[in-house]
Amino acid sequence: MSDSILSNISIEEPFTKASPMQDSLTGLDRYEIFLKKLQKAIDSMGDRRIAIIYTDIKHFKYINDTYGYQVGDALLRDFVKEMTEGNGYMICCSRVYSDNFVAAGYLMDEVTNEQFKDYIQYLNQEREVKFREKYLNSRLQFCTGISVVDKNSRSTDAETAVSNANLARKVAKELENDCCVLFDAGMMEGIKREIEITSQVPKAIANHEFKVYYQPKIETSTLKLTGAEALVRWQKPDGSFIYPDQFIPFIERSGQVVDVDYYVYREVFEFLAGRIAAGQKVVPVSLNVSRVHLMKMSILDYVKGLFKEYKISPELIEFELTESIYLDNTAQALKLVEGLHDIGTKVSMDDFGSGYSSLNLLSRLPIDIIKLDKVFFKDDTLQESDKIVISCMVDMARKLKITSLCEGVETLEQSDYLKEIGCQIQQGYYFSRPIPQEQFERLLDEEKN
Ligand code: C2E
Ligand code: CA
Ligand code: CA
Repeated sequence: MSDSILSNISIEEPFTKASPMQDSLTGLDRYEIFLKKLQKAIDSMGDRRIAIIYTDIKHFKYINDTYGYQVGDALLRDFVKEMTEGNGYMICCSRVYSDNFVAAGYLMDEVTNEQFKDYIQYLNQEREVKFREKYLNSRLQFCTGISVVDKNSRSTDAETAVSNANLARKVAKELENDCCVLFDAGMMEGIKREIEITSQVPKAIANHEFKVYYQPKIETSTLKLTGAEALVRWQKPDGSFIYPDQFIPFIERSGQVVDVDYYVYREVFEFLAGRIAAGQKVVPVSLNVSRVHLMKMSILDYVKGLFKEYKISPELIEFELTESIYLDNTAQALKLVEGLHDIGTKVSMDDFGSGYSSLNLLSRLPIDIIKLDKVFFKDDTLQESDKIVISCMVDMARKLKITSLCEGVETLEQSDYLKEIGCQIQQGYYFSRPIPQEQFERLLDEEKN
């Protein structure tokens, strides 16, 4: 494969005549020189607008790893050609590092910022087709962030303008379809919030600001309490709450979710062990597992340690892994499920049906429970089409000998329908919202055995 791709590509020597001001691979200005030129352009831009275009190449590493650096270098030079040729509005461009490029140019008066973004997006998509064919990498993608300096923002220095474009590029990289994003001030707010949140987490753990709430799970056939899901809440010292959706994505990026999850797990073990020691009723509690655990896999040792320390039965703990975790990295997810099974706990597939459900995953993975996602219950009255999908999934689970659980059940009608089709467990606001530990304890105490 490597030979056939090489014959297609011109492998040139590095840019041998490069001056100290230039990048030896591409011949572009070095980044420090780029910044100086951009600053000069901003200082004298008058009423014009300058667009800063920051691009990187998603899955470029694959080219280097598969075909070697020569082919990788050829691709980078090809990209530079594309970027610079026939572009009269260009002020300067540079390779910031590796496969990260930045260019700056004047915008034509008649073109809006949005239109310019659309144009770059179109160019990126065209280039993708060409490059994917030439470099035999069907996932290669150009991700671009654009920031525009105009007469209102011309006090912005060159470095900030580039870092704004880079921020937009990072946003673009996380999107599924759009490969080009225009910077806006709201992004800065988002980043500030992320920094604020992540910087407070260690202290919040130390101060016990994370609280575990329990959402009851109900057995359909008896309508009895049969378990609960542990859901974290962050209660700030002023009493206000931050909900998981507002901080979990940030702490997943920073990796701190591992510490928060461990904190939650320990709280749950302590809670169960305390009740058992007092001779009180307990039910199995399920714990959420972030995708970040797959990278470190220290979760298995941590959980084993908790079982050793608290001496509770493995049947009292279940782990919830979202469907997307299995899809992202099936091999590693399988290892984790097997490890958890070795410990003796059950494992569920969370949010099933929320994404690109891969039905064949269900037969390949040794899952004990599937949790149908709450999207199916978004309307109070169930749509016929949703009914068909839900009943088929419940049926499929039964045939695969997997327990079926529906979450997000909000009405009596929905609950009755689940009974009709034989869904075994239900969870949702119709029965109870997630509640603090003390309230959940009262529920447990009221339950007749
Ligand atoms: P999830 O695992 O899918 O949890 C269910 C979410 O649905 C919870 O939101 C719950 O409050 C909400 N919910 C329950 N019943 C209903 C209902 O009838 N209708 C509607 N509309 N919503 C319902 P919550 O507590 O805000 O948690 C959001 C997500 O945050 C969770 O989704 C889970 O992915 C994550 N999460 C929560 N706690 C933890 C944790 O300790 N560790 C990790 N890694 N993730 C957590
Ligand atoms: Ca869950
Ligand atoms: Ca869920």
